[in-house]
Amino acid sequence: CRRREMSRRQISKKMERRDDFEKGEPLQIIKVTDKKSGGDIIHGLELNEENLKRILLHPFVKDIPVVIISITGAFRKGKSFLLGFFLKFLEAQESVWLKENDKIKGFEWRGGTERVTSGILIWSKPFICQDKFGEKFAVLLMDTQGIFDRESTMNDSARIFALSSLMSTVQIYNIMQQLQEDDLKNLKFFTEFGKLGTETFSDGEFNMPKLVFLIRDWGCPYEYPYGEDGGKNYVTKILEETTEQPKELKDIRRAIKKCFPDVCGFLLPHPGKAVVTKKMFDGQVKEMDDDFVEYVELLVQYIFLRNMLVTKKMNGRELKGEDLMMYMKAFVSYFNE
Ligand code: GDP
Ligand code: MG
Repeated sequence: CRRREMSRRQISKKMERRDDFEKGEPLQIIKVTDKKSGGDIIHGLELNEENLKRILLHPFVKDIPVVIISITGAFRKGKSFLLGFFLKFLEAQESVWLKENDKIKGFEWRGGTERVTSGILIWSKPFICQDKFGEKFAVLLMDTQGIFDRESTMNDSARIFALSSLMSTVQIYNIMQQLQEDDLKNLKFFTEFGKLGTETFSDGEFNMPKLVFLIRDWGCPYEYPYGEDGGKNYVTKILEETTEQPKELKDIRRAIKKCFPDVCGFLLPHPGKAVVTKKMFDGQVKEMDDDFVEYVELLVQYIFLRNMLVTKKMNGRELKGEDLMMYMKAFVSYFNE
C-alpha cells in the first residue's frame, strides 16, 4: 500500500531550500539536425549529453526518483509562457507565489509568428521536494518545440512528442480553443510512430504519463466551466465512442485511450488583450485578465499539490536520475534508426 502511495507524490509545502543552487536556465537536450542523404535533407535527433548529464547526473538528482513535467502542442500557443508560472511556483518558498507585480519569465517565450523554442529543453535547476513520507524526489520542467511549425516535418513532431512522453510523467498537450478531430488524429499518429505504450519500450511495465489536455482561450464556460471539472467532462465527452461515429473516429479514440490510460483536461480562460496583442508585453501579471491568473493558480495546484506527480517506472522500479539518463540515450538512438 505504501509503495502505491509512494508512486504518486505531491509536493509538500516543505520544499527544500536550495540557496546553494544555481539560478537555473533552459538547457537544450535535444536538437533537430539536418543530414544530407543523396539529394535530400533528412532530419535527425541529436542528444546534448553534456546538458543532460548536468541535469540528471547532478549530485542531488542522480540517486532519487525524478518527475518530469512536459508540455507539447502546436507552436506559438503560450507553452513556454505557461512554464514560467510553474517555475515561479516551484521557486517560491511561500504560499503566496504569484503577485501583481511579478513578471513571468524563464523559458523563452515571445509574441509574433516565428518559432522560439526548438528541440527539447529542460530547466537546468531541479526542484528537490519531499512527499508526505519525507522521501525526496526531483521535479524537472521540460519544454518542447512547437509541433507543426514551418520547419518541422510530421516525423520530427512525432519524435519530439514520443521522446517527451517517454521521459515525462505528466504530459500537457496544449490546445487552442477547442479539441478538434485533427488534434486527436495527430496524437494517434504520434503514439503509433513512437510505438508508445508497446512492448518496444515497456517490457511490460513502463508507465505512460498522465495526459492533460490543456485548452487555452476556452470560449464556452457556460457549457463546460473553466478548470479541472469542466476540463474532465469536456475531454470525456470528446473521447467518448458513440454508435453513430464512423470506425476511423472510434479507432482514434480507442488508440489514444489505450496508449494513455490516464487522461484528463483543464480549461483556461483567455489571458487578456495585453498578453496577446501588445508588442511590448513583458510578462507582467497585473496586465493579465484576473480570471486567467485565478485559473492558472488552480492549474498549478492541480498539477503540483494534488497527487498528480507520478514517478517514472520500469518493471515496477522507480527510475532515478541516472536511470533516466541511460534510457534517454537509448530512446534517441532508437528514434534515429
Ligand atoms: P509557444 O511557442 O507555444 O511556446 O508560445 P510562447 O510561450 O512563446 O507564447 C507565444 C505567444 O502567446 C506570446 O505572445 C504569449 O504572450 C501568448 N500567450 C501566452 N499564453 C496565451 C494564452 O493562453 N492564449 C493566447 N491566445 N496567447 C497566449
Ligand atoms: Mg515555446
